[in-house]
Amino acid sequence: MPDLTNAQSSALHRALLELREELQGALDAAAEAAAPVALDQPIGRVSRIDAIQQQSMVQAGRRAAALRLQQVEAALRRCDALEYGFCLECGDGIEAGRLHARPEAAFCIACQSKSEARSS
Ligand SMILES: [Zn+2]
Repeated sequence: MPDLTNAQSSALHRALLELREELQGALDAAAEAAAPVALDQPIGRVSRIDAIQQQSMVQAGRRAAALRLQQVEAALRRCDALEYGFCLECGDGIEAGRLHARPEAAFCIACQSKSEARSS
């Protein structure tokens, strides 16, 4: 574990488990909310547009939650493999403060900002 005490890493592991539960709950709720808008329902044109707009917001939120859930699950697998807390790019320990803010972080700040610079 990089710069992490046992207490810190078990707190992060707990945070990951909680995050996974929370995201799974959010995805379940979103799956219900994203049920297709029935076109034959007498809700009127405006409210149908509302419903469709709301649905696309729900879907965007669901995609973000699904992506984060994948990252959380990958981080939990790294915990099991005792690789948690190391940057997947450079292998250095990820800053403890960064892990507290985003326990699922897979890259150190330097590598993360490099990949963000590449993708933007
Ligand atoms: Zn790195």
